[in-house]
Amino acid sequence: MTLTVKAFIKEFKSQFQSMYAYSYKEGSTEQLYNALGLYIKNYLSRNWKETKEDYVENSVKQVYYFSMEFLPGRQLESNAYNLGLLDTIKEGLNEMGMSLEELEEAEADPALGNGGLGRLASCFMDSLASLGVPGNGNGIRYQYGLFKQKFVDGYQVELPENWLRYRNVWETRNDKSTCMVKFGGNVWLEKNHLGYMEAKYENTLNVLAVPYDTPMVGYRNNVVNNLRLWSAEIPVEEEENYHTLEATEPIKEITQVLYPDDSNYEGRLLRLKQEYFMVSAGVQSILRHYKKYNLPRKNIPDKVAIHINDTHPALVIPEMMRILLDEEHLSWEQAWEITFKTCSYTNHTILREALEKWPIDMMKDLLPRIYMIIEEINQRFVDTTAPIYGDRITWQTAILQNGVVNMAHLAVIGSHSINGVAKLHTEILMEDVLKDFFELYPERFNNKTNGITQRRWMHLANPGLTRLLDEKIGEEWKKNPSELKVFKGFEQDEKTIKELAKVKFENKQRLADYIEELQGIKVNPKAIFDVQIKRLHAYKRQHLNMLHILYRYLDIKENPSKDFVPRVFIFGAKAAPSYMYAKQIIKVINSLAELINNDPDVGDKLKVVFFENYGVSLAEKIIPAADISEQISLASMEASGTSNMKLMANGALTLATLDGANIEIKDFVGEENMFIFGLSSKEVYELKAAGNYNSKGIYESNEKLRHTLDALTNDTIPGLNGEGYAVFDSLVNYNDEYFVLKDFESYIKAQEKVDALYRNTDEWTRKSLLNIASSAPFSADYTIKRYADDIWKVKQHSEQKDSVQPLDEPLT
Ligand SMILES: *Cc1c(COP(=O)(O)O)cnc(C)c1O
Repeated sequence: MTLTVKAFIKEFKSQFQSMYAYSYKEGSTEQLYNALGLYIKNYLSRNWKETKEDYVENSVKQVYYFSMEFLPGRQLESNAYNLGLLDTIKEGLNEMGMSLEELEEAEADPALGNGGLGRLASCFMDSLASLGVPGNGNGIRYQYGLFKQKFVDGYQVELPENWLRYRNVWETRNDKSTCMVKFGGNVWLEKNHLGYMEAKYENTLNVLAVPYDTPMVGYRNNVVNNLRLWSAEIPVEEEENYHTLEATEPIKEITQVLYPDDSNYEGRLLRLKQEYFMVSAGVQSILRHYKKYNLPRKNIPDKVAIHINDTHPALVIPEMMRILLDEEHLSWEQAWEITFKTCSYTNHTILREALEKWPIDMMKDLLPRIYMIIEEINQRFVDTTAPIYGDRITWQTAILQNGVVNMAHLAVIGSHSINGVAKLHTEILMEDVLKDFFELYPERFNNKTNGITQRRWMHLANPGLTRLLDEKIGEEWKKNPSELKVFKGFEQDEKTIKELAKVKFENKQRLADYIEELQGIKVNPKAIFDVQIKRLHAYKRQHLNMLHILYRYLDIKENPSKDFVPRVFIFGAKAAPSYMYAKQIIKVINSLAELINNDPDVGDKLKVVFFENYGVSLAEKIIPAADISEQISLASMEASGTSNMKLMANGALTLATLDGANIEIKDFVGEENMFIFGLSSKEVYELKAAGNYNSKGIYESNEKLRHTLDALTNDTIPGLNGEGYAVFDSLVNYNDEYFVLKDFESYIKAQEKVDALYRNTDEWTRKSLLNIASSAPFSADYTIKRYADDIWKVKQHSEQKDSVQPLDEPLT
């Protein structure tokens, strides 16, 4: 059934009229967007319903991906595209005197995540549906997203992100599928008249979990999966107990914000509430749905796979035990076998401070029954491990340690699979962070390198490149990314090189226009566009980038007649509200940008643009225009990275340390087609072990570096209020935790190579082409295929339908 332009126009008009009772000609942009969104949602609703029914009728195994964060980006264009409606809709809107681009800007970009981890979850949703894998997301419908970032005098200011203000057309509130989640109170076990132990509760806080479902549309395959986000409400039957608005606060606040302020006890408690709220509602709804399959409980692991995305949803394990024990009356051993076979866990970080631990007292008060179960899991773990492996290893791997619940340990002990997100990261888990567990359970560990969906990050974000690829290698790559390798054959084709350079230039021109419109900064589209876009964190080393810019600025000032290759440095980054150092780095970069952009001696040679409020929509605008992808974390610190993959796929050359997936990028594209610098992860470990790193010594002995660092504190940069000193101190006087000074020299050398290569446009573009052609292995389709085959044991259910293609093996 294909939609004609004529039919679309007619149906759109009637959709608008039925919603607003006047003609679309009088509609505001928001209203027109809402009408179009609902039109598309109606259009896909049949596939959505049929996909659900199909899964139940055929008793297929389903995956439930539990994540505290999702970062889906705008959905209008992506849904229209995956449904095959995009061109028709564009044409129809044009005929009615509108443009899709304009309506699209009215869609809120839901910031329900911080960065990479949430974006990964959303890329996975897209790939699950596009591969026809029965997979659902499970998360929280935060009333407010992550804060909206503004810069005031160069400082980050956080404003509330009210993304639901103009309604959310994609979601469906599902009052039939609510669950009750209980907090606090007293719990005890009592034998009932059938002889079962039953959990008795009193004085609990009961919270109603209301699901909002959002369709996850597969790419031209009629599959529509489900993303279920939970919202906290007062149970209807208890409404009369809440007499004032204030009294409802403790319930409403559970799903109000992503990451409550964790600098105080109340904030941390709220975060734990959020975690259990999402987990409990999710597991209850899964087990309720399983009953539709009419199968014995023993078969749960054959039909359900629950994935724990980082430790935040690790309470899935005791919650599933609770339901199987208290409500289904299984024995401990039976319940444990089912739970363990059902759950799998992904670790995302080796940052010590990011490994989640909860005070036992807090857990006991808030979740008394869950705590009892965790205690029992821990006791049984200790009892079975200690006799064989001894006390040391048992103590180091226990869930309960020194008054805290170690969530990573809970996740590892209760899961049949534990994976890292890039080869190096998985090695570090096995050799360092989870070393003791690797000794206990080597068979559980595996690697699943992250991926990105090429539908959003290539097809939609970069139509120029997509057209060129279609023309050169045919359209097969869109369903089978491995076909991208065919593009390598055009490496020596002058015409293609020129065409590719033209695509990049046009993308840069478009971004330059956007920068001028947004910030009033005029940038030269012929300059190198050098991009670092990611959360602001000292380990990601935006300050190393900043030092190079400062170094370059001083060079320009001191050598006015030297020939510089023009460069535009582009940043996008939010800092956690309580992370002072990260905010100081933002301020220094902004003040430096102010200085450079307004210095007539500098002109086109150097510009610095720091976008406010970095998010998915901005990333889609920036990435197709990038020449250089800055991936400069201290080796061993970045688990995988995914902006590195998006940028590579769009033809940026990677300037990187050998960290995370940068290593795999090097393996596929070749070292000669990127710029590698800095310590290796092995060297970082050795340097740390030696304990003799002395950043002040480097400062004192390296003239170039000293000159640059001194400019942070000698009033070279106007407008700073001590932030330059703060950065200087951390690097020079507090011994530079992330070895910025150690890597400075080799970073500068790599930057010089960038300049030299850029002078040879054809050679640069040839390398860019090879990057695009080598990017297929980072398609999330492959990543998901590996999760599905190795961890979840779920099939591409719709594979037999001709609309879903089996996937080629990735390139090796
Ligand atoms: C891809 C992406 C990230 C992850 O970037 P890294 O460089 O891998 O940390 C973060 N935020 C957004 C909006 C993204 O699209």
